[in-house]
Amino acid sequence: MTQTPPDLPMRAVFDAQYQASRRSPLVDVNVRVDRLRRLQAMLDAHEQILCEAVEADFGVRSAALTEVADIFVLRSLIGQLLKNTRRWSQTRRVKTPIYLQPGHARVIRQPLGVVGVISPWNYPLQLAIGPAATAMAAGNRVMIKPSELTPHASALMARLIHENFAAEELSVQQGGADVAAEFASLPFDHLFFTGSTAVGRKVAAEAANNLTPTTLELGGKSPCIISPSADLDEAVVKIVHGKLINAGQTCIAPDYVLISHEQLPAFEAAWQAAVSKLFPTLAGNPDYAAIISDRHHARLTSLVEEARAMGARVVEAQAPDGPDGHGRQLRPVLLLDAPAQATILKEEIFGPVLPVVVSDTVAETIHYINERPRPLALYWFGKDTSERDNILRSTVSGGVTVNDTLMHIAHKNLAFGGIGESGWGAYHGETGFARFTHEKSVFYQSPLAMGHLFYPPYGERFRQVMGLIKRLL
Ligand code: NAD
Repeated sequence: MTQTPPDLPMRAVFDAQYQASRRSPLVDVNVRVDRLRRLQAMLDAHEQILCEAVEADFGVRSAALTEVADIFVLRSLIGQLLKNTRRWSQTRRVKTPIYLQPGHARVIRQPLGVVGVISPWNYPLQLAIGPAATAMAAGNRVMIKPSELTPHASALMARLIHENFAAEELSVQQGGADVAAEFASLPFDHLFFTGSTAVGRKVAAEAANNLTPTTLELGGKSPCIISPSADLDEAVVKIVHGKLINAGQTCIAPDYVLISHEQLPAFEAAWQAAVSKLFPTLAGNPDYAAIISDRHHARLTSLVEEARAMGARVVEAQAPDGPDGHGRQLRPVLLLDAPAQATILKEEIFGPVLPVVVSDTVAETIHYINERPRPLALYWFGKDTSERDNILRSTVSGGVTVNDTLMHIAHKNLAFGGIGESGWGAYHGETGFARFTHEKSVFYQSPLAMGHLFYPPYGERFRQVMGLIKRLL
C-alpha cells in the first residue's frame, strides 16, 4: 500500500477551512483557476500510479477502464471548469419590474464556504475528485471522505492532495463508517454524498441537525426497455456493455431488462453472443473487473441462489475462463422467470447479473416502472418514436439514454442526478457549478425611487398608485 502520512485531524481541518471561508468569502477567480490547474497537473503526473492503485483495490480492473471512466472524465470536467469558471462566476443583471424602477437588481454568485464530499468505491477517483473540482471552481474549500473499500486509491489521493494543496484549500479524511459518520456531522455549508440509498438516508438525517444542505447521488434499479421496434442485436451489445463495464458495479448500469415474450428467445442468444464478443474470456481477462470484496461477491451469489430456489432460470455466460482467473471475477448471469418477491428484483444489484422482466405492452412497462421507486437512469431501445416519447413522458427518472446505455452521464452539458430514492440535486456542467454557489440577490435602490408612495397612512394616494400599477402589470 502507498505510504502516506496520517490525515490531519478532521475537526482542525474543518475549522481551518471554515475560518478561511469566513475571512475571505470571495475567492478570486485566478485563485480558483490556479487550484484547478494544480489538480489537473496532479492527475497528469500520476495517472499511471492512480490506475495501479485502483487495480490493486479491485484485484482486477483494467487501467484502460480507470483511464476512461475516472481520469478522462476528470480531465474533461476540469477542462470545462477552466474554460467557464470566469464566466459562470460573473455577477448577472436581472430585469427589474416597473414598480421598482429606476432601481436595478443583480445576482452575485458567491462560494458557499466549506463543502464536504463523501464518495463511494466504484469509480473512486472520478466520484471524489469530480465534485471536489466543481466545488473548488465555485470558490469553496473542500474536504473529501473517500471510500474505505478502495484503501490504495484513497491513500494515494490523500497523499497527492496533501502534497499539492494547503489543508485549508482541499483535504482528505480516510476511514470507515465511523469516520464517515463523524464527517457527516460537521456543519458544512454543503454536503455532497455519492453512495447507497440506505447510507444517503443517514447522511441526510445527520446533515439536517446542522441545517446543512445536501446533494445525494444515490443508486437504485435502472430499467432497460427493449421495444419490439428495436434492432435487438445492436441493443443487446450496448446493454451488455453498460451492464458489464466494471462488472456491473456502476450506479447507472442497466439493472434489469423489460422485454416482450416474443423477443425473449432471440434476446437470450444475443446476450450470449454479446458477452462473448466483449469478453472472449471471463476469469483471467484483465478487461473484466473483479467484484470489489468477498462480501459483495457473496451477496451477489446469494441473490442469484435465492432467485434460483424461488424458481428462476439462471443462464450463465458461455464464454470460457482463461488461465489465472481472480476469485472475485463473477461470471455474468441472465436471470429469467424470477418471481417478483425475489430480492434481486427489489434491491439494486450492482453486479453482472441481469434479470429479465417480461412485459408485452407499453402500458404494462410503464406501470411496472411507476409502481417502483424512481430510478436513477432509464434506457429505451427502439425506432418507434411515438412509443419512445410516451415512455419519456410517462416515467420519471434521474436521466435517460435513448438507444444506448450510460451515455447521458458523459455529456458534459447535461446535469446528472437522481430523483426520489435515487437522490436529489444534480451536478455536472454549469448545474454543478450552481450547486456549490450561493446566488445572492441584490437590489440597488435609486435616489429617484417612488417607494414612499406605498408607505402608510394608506389613504387616497396609495389607492391611486395601486390602481395605476395594476393597469400597468
Ligand atoms: P455506501 O453508501 O456504502 O458508501 C459510500 C460512502 O459513504 C463511503 O465513503 C462510506 O464510508 C460512507 N459512509 C458509510 N456510512 C456512513 C455514514 N453513516 N454517514 C456518512 N457516510 C457514510 O456506498 P458504496 O457501496 O461505496 O457505493 C455503492 C453505491 O453507491 C450504490 O448504491 C451505487 O448505486 C451508488 N452510487 C451512486 C452514484 C451516483 O452518481 N448516483 C455513483 C456511484 C455509486
